[in-house]
Amino acid sequence: MKKYLLGIDIGGTTVKLGLFNNEGELLYKWEIETRKIENGKYILSDITDSINSILEERNIPKEEIVGAGVGVPGPVKDDGTVLGCVNLGWPVFNVSQALEELLNIPIKVANDANIAALGEMYKGGGKGYEDMIMVTLGTGVGGGVIIKGQVIAGVTGAGGEIGHMNVNPHEKTSCNCGRKGCLEQYTSATGIVRLAKEILEKESCDSKLRSIENITAKDVFDLAKEQDELSKKVIEKFSSILGRALSNIACICNPDVFVIGGGVSKAGEMLLNSIKESYLENALYATTGTEFKLATLGNDAGIFGGAKLAKEI
Ligand SMILES: [Zn+2]
Repeated sequence: MKKYLLGIDIGGTTVKLGLFNNEGELLYKWEIETRKIENGKYILSDITDSINSILEERNIPKEEIVGAGVGVPGPVKDDGTVLGCVNLGWPVFNVSQALEELLNIPIKVANDANIAALGEMYKGGGKGYEDMIMVTLGTGVGGGVIIKGQVIAGVTGAGGEIGHMNVNPHEKTSCNCGRKGCLEQYTSATGIVRLAKEILEKESCDSKLRSIENITAKDVFDLAKEQDELSKKVIEKFSSILGRALSNIACICNPDVFVIGGGVSKAGEMLLNSIKESYLENALYATTGTEFKLATLGNDAGIFGGAKLAKEI
């Protein structure tokens, strides 16, 4: 009988792996280094060796594995072809086919942001919902669109790249993607710091932020919680941009819930409340019931999403 699922999340530094039962309960998780030398050609065989030895240790025959769901950092087509993963040095090739040949179990591959969204829907902040938008506020801003339980990856895998929605046609500085005025430039951790510096320069009022040499997004949230007026202004600006962007997204796919994750989401309820306030100021009447939740799985979201993908094989 098939009793186990595998979740694999390939990142630029480490590969996270998880062994799950059929109900999606995590039984064991581990990590290996991502060996990127020679265009990442050892990554899949390292994963294979590691899984084989863990299964052997636990006396689990391959016949008992339903399959493995794999997240990769880059766009992926439905058949498992990656369109080049810059972070891993990978060219265009079919990861699904290659890993299936090595591991001898069914494989399904998806983009890492999308697979993390799937994980949050399966066992995290979006549990119980089928229509969900994941918003990851980290160094950059990522996203994942799930409609009726299915990830919408789009024709070239760029579906859910909400960080690169244009929210400001007047921006002069370039985003990492090369364009100007992307959501990520204002609402990522680095974007928040940038907003803070701009507001500090413009306003003359006193603020504890002025005494911090290298301001972080966390400083801004912490001080806003202490009622530091200038920090509160930064959060207001950040929330007004993000809330408006999410209200536009809601007009396109009208989700049950927005799940907010990434490092910035550690700011917790205060963050949710301020985003929601701005969202409601901008939302179409039929989308005002959308809920806002915090992601709960952290760095494990990818392996949980992998397990969910494997379950659908
Ligand atoms: Zn961009």
